[in-house]
Amino acid sequence: MSIFTYEDLLNYFPFRYVDRSVVSRVSEIDPEKDYVVLRGTISNMQTVTNGRNVRLTAQFRDMSGTLDLVWFQGVNWIRDSLKPNTLYLVMGKVTAYGSALQIAHPDIELASQEERALSHPFIPIYSTTEKCKAKGLNPKGIGRLVETLLSQIKGTLSETLPADIRQRYRLMGREAALSNIHFPKNSSLLAEATRRLKFEELFSMQLDYQYSRSLRLNQSQGRVFSTIGEYFNRFYNEKLPFELTRAQKRVIKEIRSDLKSGRQMNRLLQGDVGSGKTIVALFSMLIALDNQCQACLMAPTEILANQHYNSISRLTEGLGLRVELLTGSMKPSQKKKIKALLAIGDIDILIGTHALIEDDVVFSQLGLVVIDEQHRFGVKQRAKLWAKNAIPPHILVMTATPIPRTLAMTLYADLECSVIDELPPGRHPIQTLHSTDAHRLRLFGFMREQIALGRQVYVVYPLINESEKSDLKDLMDGYESIRRAFPLPQYGVSILHGQMPPEAKDFEMQHFKSGENQIMVSTTVIEVGVDVPNATVMVIENAERFGLSQLHQLRGRVGRGAEQSYCILMTKDNLSSSARERIQTMCSTNDGFRIAEADLRLRGPGDIQGLQQSGMLEFKLADIVDDEPMVKATRDEVRRILEYDPRLETPDNHMLKKRVQKTVHIEWNKIS
Ligand code: ADP
Ligand code: MG
Repeated sequence: MSIFTYEDLLNYFPFRYVDRSVVSRVSEIDPEKDYVVLRGTISNMQTVTNGRNVRLTAQFRDMSGTLDLVWFQGVNWIRDSLKPNTLYLVMGKVTAYGSALQIAHPDIELASQEERALSHPFIPIYSTTEKCKAKGLNPKGIGRLVETLLSQIKGTLSETLPADIRQRYRLMGREAALSNIHFPKNSSLLAEATRRLKFEELFSMQLDYQYSRSLRLNQSQGRVFSTIGEYFNRFYNEKLPFELTRAQKRVIKEIRSDLKSGRQMNRLLQGDVGSGKTIVALFSMLIALDNQCQACLMAPTEILANQHYNSISRLTEGLGLRVELLTGSMKPSQKKKIKALLAIGDIDILIGTHALIEDDVVFSQLGLVVIDEQHRFGVKQRAKLWAKNAIPPHILVMTATPIPRTLAMTLYADLECSVIDELPPGRHPIQTLHSTDAHRLRLFGFMREQIALGRQVYVVYPLINESEKSDLKDLMDGYESIRRAFPLPQYGVSILHGQMPPEAKDFEMQHFKSGENQIMVSTTVIEVGVDVPNATVMVIENAERFGLSQLHQLRGRVGRGAEQSYCILMTKDNLSSSARERIQTMCSTNDGFRIAEADLRLRGPGDIQGLQQSGMLEFKLADIVDDEPMVKATRDEVRRILEYDPRLETPDNHMLKKRVQKTVHIEWNKIS
């Protein structure tokens, strides 16, 4: 149960409480309710032996009726200790057993101890395991351990929150809070204890992350990119194919000021799909080049890396830059050549996949790393890229999964954030519709209309598990039926899935990109970043199987050109309520931030893609959705403290210093 120390035990909070002061009557019992407290007498005890199994049954009676009690263990002891004609408090979960009600293994107390019960009406219920129960560590047993511990350490627990904060937020002292979270004297004290401990939890997390950031800003030297030179200016004046949006300009400014600050940049760039992050990345890389450094861009898939490579090569044509690609599927001889050129500084911009972080990839002068779609990369991988230089390169992480505000406040407390909150002009909002299998012919009709207008169509199947045969079969069946409805030579259909060899993927992708094939049937390999502006229809099959952020990502593949685009969510008829809510959310908004908020609400932070392994959101009490005001308050308080005393050196902050020395690990500072 992850309890190794007394402190762990102290912080092992009940997951709920039973209120002994609320006594029910048998006649009013609602079997749906999970735990009841009854007051009455016990009679008719009978031991029933069935082969080797012994069972004790008894009848419980109060003024309103009777129910059965049953025990399968400790039978003799229980039979001997229960007395007739005595008032007991009987507590437990009621199950309906045929027409009768029954409690198995009830908790029993003499009602004459009620006075004690009234001073401590709440019974803490701790979660436990079957194995622990067998050793006496049932919820009651754990409660006894905690009770003993609390009584023995009384008066010795130190405070962890600064006094002025405790005062201003009217927070209970730590010892009182811990005592009341385990054994609350009444419900308002329980609420106060919970509030105090939540605050502490959020405050500590903010302190850890913000202190790391403060260390990084104060200690780690970054290259100073003081010049905006020829590459940047010529690209801006001669090559830029469109006017930058205001948001893009603002973000480029933010990045420029980071790059010349003398400190290592660690910036997260958020922007909805299609908001134009690539060009911002390119400008940043050009600044590095203008300052005699190399830059690299790491993408999560080969397709994406290829695409970035193509578009960046095209955009920078004529600037005299050397842009190269490095991916895992390239021939060893090719890779070797690229690595050699890289090491002597002959490559300016290297674009690639995970292959970039292999140990033998050595840059001559790496100044800036751009990481696209960061949720695909583990924290460790990013750290590895960073380790490639004595002086850390600047890091720009781009993500198209908008992060809800509260999440950003918690997760990225140690990062600077930029947001592109505006789409390039002239985009029509994508229309999203929900349809079912019964209307498939209509769907095909609509696809034909769009194709007749010269547009292209994606049809995407969920492939939850790449190696799952049944998922792949769905895709192949879908492909067959589309082939029948859209026959050669009039129609060309591409197919793409993760298990195809890279050359085959390229081949299919090229035929779709060139417009030769009008339809692309694929799994979610196209999820991230594929850019075909002429595609106007995104059909998502079995849409109920996708999460909201994934649906939003997929939808972002269309609506990239001047034409009206559509997203059609195909589902079965009967949807679970959460699936229905997801579909409705998609049909009602295109706003990535609203979708991210809904996603967070529906699934909870633990399920947000890429966050599971982060372990950053495992709060015991706090809930970053419900407790948003407190997230904000703790962030601001910690910020204020660190602004005033960045190294926590004043006596007032001694306590906080001690804490961060225990919890802040140096590695964290190195990771973007
Ligand atoms: P994402 O943020 O999803 O990575 P991209 O960088 O791929 O978006 O940009 C999406 C499309 O919008 C690309 O075709 C790009 O050329 C175009 N684009 C980007 N910025 C602008 C702009 N300011 N004006 C017009 N088109 C733009
Ligand atoms: Mg992109």
